[in-house]
Amino acid sequence: MAISFDLAGKCALVTGANTGIGQAIAVALAEAGADVALAGRSEPAETVERIKAAGRRVVDVRADLSGTAEVQRVVDEALGALGRIDVLVNNAGIIRRDDLLQFSEADWDAVIDTNLKALFFLSQAAARHMAERGSGKIINIASLLSFQGGIRVPSYAAAKSGVAGLTKAMANELSASGIQVNAVAPGYIATNNTAALQADETRNRQILERIPAGRWGKPEDIAGAAIFLSSNASDYVTGHILAVDGGWLAR
Ligand code: NDP
Repeated sequence: MAISFDLAGKCALVTGANTGIGQAIAVALAEAGADVALAGRSEPAETVERIKAAGRRVVDVRADLSGTAEVQRVVDEALGALGRIDVLVNNAGIIRRDDLLQFSEADWDAVIDTNLKALFFLSQAAARHMAERGSGKIINIASLLSFQGGIRVPSYAAAKSGVAGLTKAMANELSASGIQVNAVAPGYIATNNTAALQADETRNRQILERIPAGRWGKPEDIAGAAIFLSSNASDYVTGHILAVDGGWLAR
């Protein structure tokens, strides 16, 4: 079998793809040849347009993934429209910031339910389909806070560490079914999510000084890793957490 990043004939489901990292991944998968189902709360108009411009089929499954209520519908609608799911990208995520001593239960639950619980049950639903077909790729979007504790983001650090553990747990059990499960851990990526940090002159300077590459990451930097992990070039890679961080963790 020739090693290739070509995804022609593949179908992918990407969560949280109306903006930021999810949008870059969904568009890159389409440009590599995949048809794509998008799952999120907001209308992903620009993503849909760019996937169509790449000549691929695109399906917009509007859903709230802040829990498990809609995960089966998302998989069913993606399958109904595309016929198969070869690649699942669990990208949807939120962050809540507050001091540890006053961190609320609501902020704990919101982050854990969206970033960890929905991710697991969506993966489970998609993996049942992939296991029947004997192949599949699951890519979880983790974080530097899968490795570090951070400050004022306890539920996010717990959820993203959980994503790293879950990636390995899923990889162990799903390997026998021909499914590879990996995570990408983005460093500091310029998206809406990090706009406040970029705008804060002092924090921005501190961050840039700490990144060996000397720049913020672009969403497309994460898409490159996602293409590798979606393609047959990564068929022997599973249970891995790939940091794409301009060298942050190497320092
Ligand atoms: P954005 O805020 O730009 O995008 C987050 C996406 O998640 C949106 O598409 C949003 O869509 C979707 N989403 C949030 N809540 C829900 C929900 N309840 N149901 C469905 N979709 C939801 O963030 P980024 O692109 O920066 O982040 C993408 C991923 O990358 C996240 O998992 C984040 O934790 C991770 N990450 C980002 C880093 C960065 O520096 N930017 C660093 C490390 C990790 P909508 O609101 O319409 O539903």
